[in-house]
Amino acid sequence: MEIRLPKNVKKIIDTLEQAGYEAYAVGGCVRDSVLGREPNDWDITTSARPLETKALFKRTVDTGLQHGTVTVLLDGEGYEVTTYRIDGEYEDGRHPKEVQFTEKLVEDLRRRDFTINAMAYNEREGLVDAFDGIGDMERGVIRCVGDAGERFTEDALRILRAVRFSAQLGFSIEENTREAIERLAKNLEKISAERIQAEMVKLLASPHPGELRTAWETGITAVILPEFDAMMETEQHTPHHWGSVGEHTLRCLESVEPDRTLRLAMLLHDAGKPALRTTDEEGRDHFIGHPEAGERIAEQVLRRWKMDNDTIGRVKRLVRFHDLRPVPTPRSVRRMIYKVGEELFPSLLLVQRADILAQSNYRWEEKLRALEETERIYREILAARQCLSIRGLAVGGRDLIADGMKPGPALGRTLTALLEHVLEEPEHNTKEYLLALSRALRQGEPPLF
Ligand code: ATP
Ligand code: MG
Repeated sequence: MEIRLPKNVKKIIDTLEQAGYEAYAVGGCVRDSVLGREPNDWDITTSARPLETKALFKRTVDTGLQHGTVTVLLDGEGYEVTTYRIDGEYEDGRHPKEVQFTEKLVEDLRRRDFTINAMAYNEREGLVDAFDGIGDMERGVIRCVGDAGERFTEDALRILRAVRFSAQLGFSIEENTREAIERLAKNLEKISAERIQAEMVKLLASPHPGELRTAWETGITAVILPEFDAMMETEQHTPHHWGSVGEHTLRCLESVEPDRTLRLAMLLHDAGKPALRTTDEEGRDHFIGHPEAGERIAEQVLRRWKMDNDTIGRVKRLVRFHDLRPVPTPRSVRRMIYKVGEELFPSLLLVQRADILAQSNYRWEEKLRALEETERIYREILAARQCLSIRGLAVGGRDLIADGMKPGPALGRTLTALLEHVLEEPEHNTKEYLLALSRALRQGEPPLF
């Protein structure tokens, strides 16, 4: 087996070897290279101690000297070079409580989570695969190195990582590994929010986000996302749906492109439903107010995971407006864009499409046709460069002040009123017309149109 190492990785390995140490590319980069995927980052494992590594390279960063990690900088890029080590229990999450350096590569490979992540490579030795990672790749399975129960007890995040890799690679989880996940899933309680978030985002933004089902079946979501369990338990007796809120959500995830914001929005768009179900005399379920309730739950979940504010804001808006589907006319579409925000609007269209595709075929054509009409009108509005925000108005605050208005809240209200008007009548977006309109508004006269 031959892997083409990037020039800088080769250089680091050569430098270490020439100084008498062993060095290999290791972990995710080897796995991805064997699978023909582009590695995220190249990690190097070496027999050299951190200070020995530092002495060999001009520019280095002390990333985690006590854990053996030095980052070597070459051409502005960082490469983590870590000394062969044996880990104790993981404490803060990222780092084991105590580590012990070792002289043996195989001891370092043994501490890694899964067989497919426990391979090393260099040009001198070729592939070092002590735990049959290649065999598991061929079989398409995620299997712990050694005893799964022990590995998950050392670091419970590995429980979630197993499902994340299965979603990214389309692999199944080997039986003993899966059994240990079910037994130990509750240990995920101890894992920090940041680490959970990172793995959940990778799982959701993967080629197989429907693997979230495995996280539910094995009791993982019960610990880190009980909101999803509530969705799986909420049936929907309505012609629009064919299964529970959770089943619909899983299909939505598969129906939208692998973008983190879109996938998070799909995950949470119906999270408000479980608490709001009412059933009418005909036995039909309703979920009135669920977009607003879902928005609140989305905020709670994403705050709990310590997600950044920008993502939280976008996901919340997509959840709140996911059901906003006016009869498509140019006016209603302009109003919709204004409400949702120009920048987020294309994402909302993608959310709505995925939502419809994951519903029952009841009135399917009709719903899709309306959405396509909305999309068509949206493209026309863009092509005509129609005004959709205060920024797009032909007059600004300065023009109104020059026309005699005082700065202050009234000025803002006037601009909003002008925008409301222009959303109705785009051809009125001229300086002349809007100045006249603003004067009329100030004098309390009826508008000109
Ligand atoms: P990604 O594509 O997300 O970077 P990766 O496999 O490279 O996937 P990293 O988190 O970058 O994952 O870790 C690099 C390597 O370190 C892994 O391949 C694995 O060998 C080892 N590793 C990472 N986290 C753990 C862990 N929690 N327990 C054991 N080994 C781990
Ligand atoms: Mg990596």
